[in-house]
Amino acid sequence: MNIVLPQDVIQIIERLESCGHEAYAVGGCVRDSILGKEPADWDITTSASPEDVKALFTHTIDTGIAHGTVTIMCGKCGYEVTTYRIDGEYKDGRHPESVAFTNLLSEDLRRRDFTINAMAYNQTEGLVDLFGGMQDLQDGVIRCVGEATERFSEDALRMLRAVRFAAQLGFSIEKATYDAICALAPTIARVSMERIMVELVKLLTSDHPEEMRTVYACGLSAVFLPEFDAMMETPQHTVHHQYSVGEHTIHALMAVPAERILRLTMLFHDVAKPVCRTTDEAGNDHFYGHPEIGAEMTGQILRRLKFDNDTIRSVKRLVRFHDMRPVLQEKNVRRSIVKMGLESFPEIFAVKRADTMAQSMYMRQQKLDAIDQFEALYDRMIEKQVCVQKKDLALNGKDLLELGVPQGKKVGEILDLLFAQVIEEPAKNTREELLTEAKRLAAIEK
Ligand code: ATP
Ligand code: MG
Repeated sequence: MNIVLPQDVIQIIERLESCGHEAYAVGGCVRDSILGKEPADWDITTSASPEDVKALFTHTIDTGIAHGTVTIMCGKCGYEVTTYRIDGEYKDGRHPESVAFTNLLSEDLRRRDFTINAMAYNQTEGLVDLFGGMQDLQDGVIRCVGEATERFSEDALRMLRAVRFAAQLGFSIEKATYDAICALAPTIARVSMERIMVELVKLLTSDHPEEMRTVYACGLSAVFLPEFDAMMETPQHTVHHQYSVGEHTIHALMAVPAERILRLTMLFHDVAKPVCRTTDEAGNDHFYGHPEIGAEMTGQILRRLKFDNDTIRSVKRLVRFHDMRPVLQEKNVRRSIVKMGLESFPEIFAVKRADTMAQSMYMRQQKLDAIDQFEALYDRMIEKQVCVQKKDLALNGKDLLELGVPQGKKVGEILDLLFAQVIEEPAKNTREELLTEAKRLAAIEK
């Protein structure tokens, strides 16, 4: 096996070796290289102590010195160099509670989660593969290093990581590893939401977001996302659907581009359906109010999962408006854009298309055509720079003050009235027209 290491990595390894230490590229970068994928970053494992590493290189950062990690800077690129170690128990932080350094590469590889992540490589020794990682890569298998139950008991997050790697690589989870996840799923409750969130996002933005099915089947989502279980268990008896809420959600995830905000939106767009479901006399299900209630639930869930406020705001907005279908005339579309906020665009179109593609065939083409027309009307408005935001008005607060409107809430009120008129009649958005109108309004207000 020959892996082409970046020049920086070769130099770091050679420098360490020339001083009598061992050093290897390790983990994800070795796995991705063998798969012919460009690694996101290159991690190095070494027998040298963190102090030795710092002494040997000019530009270093103490990234996680207590856990043996030093970052070596080569220009703008950073490389994490970690001393061979044996991990103590992981409690709820991102790192194990205690670590012990060792001078055996085999010990360092043994502590790693999966066989495919437990390979090391350098130019002197070639590939070091003590646990059959290469074979598992070829077979497309996620398998724990050592006894699965033991490994998941040390760090419960590994269970979700197994599903995440299956989703990213399109692999299946080996049986003993899978059975251990099912048995130990409840223990993921011990893991911090921050760590869970990182893995969940990687899973959702992967090529196989349908692995959410496995997250449910193993009993993992029951712990940190019971709302997803409720969706999986809610049927939809309506002509518009052919799946349960959960299966519809999974198909919607697959139908939307692998972008973080979009995938999160699809995951939660129907989250309120289980609580909003009513069944009429004819046996048809209805989900009145689910977009609005869903937006509120989404906010609560994302906060619980420790997402940042920007993400929460964006996803909530898209969930809230995912079902908005304006009458396809310019005026109505203008009103909708104002209501939804320009920030919802153009993402809302991807959301609506994915939602439609995950529904039944009933009226599908008509639904898609309507989205196309909605988008065409939106595009034309943007192109013509039609005013859809108060700040696009041809008149501003300063102009009103100059007209003699007293400073204070009056200014805002008049601007609101002008804006409302411009939304109804875009042609009015000229300085002249608005000045006349503002004078009239100011007189009335007095
Ligand atoms: P990615 O491309 O997502 O970064 P990665 O394999 O590099 O994938 P990281 O989470 O960056 O994953 O971890 C780097 C390496 O550290 C892994 O390949 C694995 O060897 C080891 N590792 C990370 N987390 C754990 C864990 N919780 N338990 C055991 N080993 C782990
Ligand atoms: Mg990594």
